Amino acid sequence: MASSLFLPYKRGVICRKRCRPVVLAGLLLCSAALAHGLQTAQRAIKVDQVGYPLDGPKVALVSSPATVFEVRRSSDNVIVFKGNLTEAQVDPASGDSVRAADFSAVKQTGRYYIEVPGVGRSWDFAVSPNVFEHTYYMAMRAFYGQRCGTAVDMGPEFPGYSHPACHLHGQFNPTSGASGPRDNIGGWHDAGDYGRYMVNSGITTGTLLWTWEIFGQKIKNIALNIPETGNGTPDILNEARWNLEWMLKMQDTDGGAWHKQTSVYFPGFVPPEDDKLPSEVIGTGTAPFKSTCATADLAVVGAIAARVYQPYDPVFAARALEAARRAWAWTEKYPNVTFHNPPGIQSGEYGSDSCQSERLWAAAELARTTGEAQYNHYFLKNYASSLFGLDSPPGENWNSVGSMALWAYALSPRKDVNAKAVSAIRVRTVDAARAVVQRTRANPYRVSLQATDYVWGSNSVAAEYGIDLLIANLFQPEQDFVDTARDNLHYLLGRNTFSLSWVTQVGENPFLHPHHRPSGALPESPWPGMLSGGPNASRQDAVLAALPKNLPPAKVYADQLASYASNEICINWQANLVFLLAGELP
Ligand SMILES: [Zn+2]
Repeated sequence: MASSLFLPYKRGVICRKRCRPVVLAGLLLCSAALAHGLQTAQRAIKVDQVGYPLDGPKVALVSSPATVFEVRRSSDNVIVFKGNLTEAQVDPASGDSVRAADFSAVKQTGRYYIEVPGVGRSWDFAVSPNVFEHTYYMAMRAFYGQRCGTAVDMGPEFPGYSHPACHLHGQFNPTSGASGPRDNIGGWHDAGDYGRYMVNSGITTGTLLWTWEIFGQKIKNIALNIPETGNGTPDILNEARWNLEWMLKMQDTDGGAWHKQTSVYFPGFVPPEDDKLPSEVIGTGTAPFKSTCATADLAVVGAIAARVYQPYDPVFAARALEAARRAWAWTEKYPNVTFHNPPGIQSGEYGSDSCQSERLWAAAELARTTGEAQYNHYFLKNYASSLFGLDSPPGENWNSVGSMALWAYALSPRKDVNAKAVSAIRVRTVDAARAVVQRTRANPYRVSLQATDYVWGSNSVAAEYGIDLLIANLFQPEQDFVDTARDNLHYLLGRNTFSLSWVTQVGENPFLHPHHRPSGALPESPWPGMLSGGPNASRQDAVLAALPKNLPPAKVYADQLASYASNEICINWQANLVFLLAGELP
């Protein structure tokens, strides 16, 4: 969420983390001039800085004129492959003239770089069977880093990335219809700010629980080194539960859920434990005070949780289901209580004019969990109007979850699902995915983003395309779907116009200055594993507004702390990255 208040911090570290030490005349130097030349070359050769799976397509992109390329082994510079670059293709979204270097023939595990004679060398990358496993680990641990209400310590891998417990006390804001203390300790800080928002928590947690439900076999043995590791529950479920417990606390005794718990305005750029603004439960301002979107989202995650935690903690699973049922019942009584910030409230809004897609998702998940007719009936009566959303992916974001609702239903293993509905959902999802594959193949950067997709959080849109493709692959397995989803991952991890990894501390050239309060005092080394929002042609902050007027949309990005509209981090974007990474694991 946008958080526009910040304190400037001191800059000016000379040897940036991404500048490689250079040995010259026996001296270890970090030469600005050498580094500049090196970086210019590296920016012109775009690779996935994490790497490429052993099997499958391996493509780097080059935005300088050249004809041939070499793949060299990093350890000894030996050439392992030589090839020709394709003809240049102009990319309208960035203005770049892009050539492709296909080295799919390299099928030996190792670390490599691309050398383009006359241009230079790329960043290093790996080729290996499980090349994305560590990035998945980093991306999931970023959620641990966002934990609220507890001391956080990223451990010996990241010494100093820690903070004492924060936001241990809360209270009702008058807009909630209640008064007095309400601590509601827990949850994740939503983004660069310290608010906790039910609607964004809903899609985030739902996406993580789906990651487990769909790709559990791929990730079940990946320990995240979080406090719960080793307790017998898979770590992704341990981490998701941290937020689920907070979401459950946001439910009132009548079943409704308040919309958010935040300070009434964004805090300054201070560490979490130093944010002393009261943490307030905020409601709609008028009866019934809770919102339908927040309550339906609670029903969604409660219903999924009832399934996925059943083998590990049946008591918790039952508690989650009971909360989901009560939440659903509340939304039947109040089907469209929307939320917009009441007067005096300036934290993130996550407002919406309709909560129908949230209710549809809740009905689908409750039908899938319980098999009860009331939920199935609601879904079948209301799903058809959401079908068109499948035709123009990506179909999901925090304020529009119709596609999630449809997929939840179509993925249900229950025998009593309606075959006509399932068929319509499958066919439309697969048709749309095939169109995305064609479009992505034709795109010089091999990303599914269209020029109009460079909006606030465009990196998450790229990940959402990946999700759509991986869901389609569940309905109709096609290798192109998996490969094209991975193309979007390659874009996020460095194969983009900036040759930048948009995940902190991942790859040789990651972005450095997220709009993220705990990172504000660490000007060269932000908290690890977090996805940047990415280019945003709408330019809603002063940094972007000051960029040249004629910049093409894919270039409207600034790796600056103050650019909240292009360089914030956010839990729902992060969850999309996790889903995509998990889907691309072997
Ligand atoms: Zn906190």
